[in-house]
Amino acid sequence: MTTITASNFARTTPAPAAATPAFTVDPYDPDVIARRTADAKRAETTADPLPNDLIGKPAPSYFRSYDQLKTALYEMEAKYPGLVEVRDIGDTAEKIAGTADRDILALVLTNKAMTGDKPSTLNVGGIHAREIANPELLMTFANQLLAGHGTNADATMLLDTREVVLVPMLNPDGHAVVEKGFLGERGGNTMQRKNTDAGEPALGTDLNRNFEYKWGGPGASASPRSETYRGPSAASAPETKAIQQFAIANKPDFFIDWHSYSKLNMYPWGDSREKTPHHAAFQALAQKFTSFNGYSPIQAIDLYATTGTTDDTIYAKNGKASMAIETGSSFHQSDQEFAKTLQENLPILSYTAKIADSPFERVFGPDVSSVTVDPTTRQLTATLSDLNNGKQAIAGAEVVLDPNAAPGTGMALTAADGTFDKFDEAVTGAASALPGLDPNAGDGTLVYVRGRDVAGNWGPLTAQWLTGPAKAAANSVSDAATSAAGVS
Ligand SMILES: [Zn+2]
Repeated sequence: MTTITASNFARTTPAPAAATPAFTVDPYDPDVIARRTADAKRAETTADPLPNDLIGKPAPSYFRSYDQLKTALYEMEAKYPGLVEVRDIGDTAEKIAGTADRDILALVLTNKAMTGDKPSTLNVGGIHAREIANPELLMTFANQLLAGHGTNADATMLLDTREVVLVPMLNPDGHAVVEKGFLGERGGNTMQRKNTDAGEPALGTDLNRNFEYKWGGPGASASPRSETYRGPSAASAPETKAIQQFAIANKPDFFIDWHSYSKLNMYPWGDSREKTPHHAAFQALAQKFTSFNGYSPIQAIDLYATTGTTDDTIYAKNGKASMAIETGSSFHQSDQEFAKTLQENLPILSYTAKIADSPFERVFGPDVSSVTVDPTTRQLTATLSDLNNGKQAIAGAEVVLDPNAAPGTGMALTAADGTFDKFDEAVTGAASALPGLDPNAGDGTLVYVRGRDVAGNWGPLTAQWLTGPAKAAANSVSDAATSAAGVS
């Protein structure tokens, strides 16, 4: 097992303004979308042996067992007691049956010293056991965020002002079957998708057909042998019940269910072509994700009709942002492919936390990057871009000392070229003139920059340390994510 660390957090050169990376294939090409949806359909439903290139044996080095992951979660809590709480949100089917001792564990990340009502995100991985990369994607994000607190400006902002909840492995019983498969043990199967609540893994429930919304409808089977078996009743599986109850009780502002594979960014509905009341925003969110990962943005129904799924149910219940992402191009991503999955998707985890105060609006607002504050003069400069947020002209920018201040209440920044008229603009202002700023404020003080476009859409805040050239080096979780994946 490889321990994944956040060794690359202290990036010295901030990344340029969000520009669409050059993807090897065009995620909007209808042929590409057709191929990916066909892949996904096959990946979602197959129980047949897959071609050898899709089955990685032995396990890739990032892979770890449920027990190893559980240990890592509690080690994280012990290392960062002020930032981490491991919460047991329910027992697995086998624990209830008395045949194993596995809990469904949620990692709650937030700076406990900063109280108040914090916007939240909920990310779930491993609902399908054989999709082994996503638990480690979420663990990598957790490690980076925690390692960045106090040094990385955006990581600090996110932990101070957000509650980031990760359930890296929702299906530990199914994962145990995969573990045995990699070890070549009796009863093992590296292709296990479902949970094991019927005692025999082959008769388990497809947790992602067992949720309440439209349970029992198309795209889910009534046959226990099927890979898409919906279960005997809605939320019959304890794993389903646990996360559904948790999501309804906590109403996360952004929910993502992470799957593999086929490179798709999906939004509700999955059972109907009907548009949700948030259709335009969901489309914008999926396309925004595409700017990070190059996956194709689709309404989930474009795959095939599904019912009883996580994201539809949580959207139907809460009315808040709720999506599903299919990472990579295999169930058992190689270490090389996993590194790419990190590079493509870590920025989405931080972005969704950034915009969690109002996802359906922030997604249309500009991104801020390359914030610098001169340690001597305290002149602030930043770059704004609306390129991947509707491509409208920037109309204004501001800097605030309080990350909870309402948009429009901060100190205005000016366009470096004198006029706001383009979708990307450099901005500048005297941070020393910030109302309420202690003139002696030094290391540890954050300032936050955001911009708005001509349509009046305010984007999310980006943070930077007020002083200290050493600290000014690291300002973006996304930068670090890119760096961690070995890309400069
Ligand atoms: Zn899946």
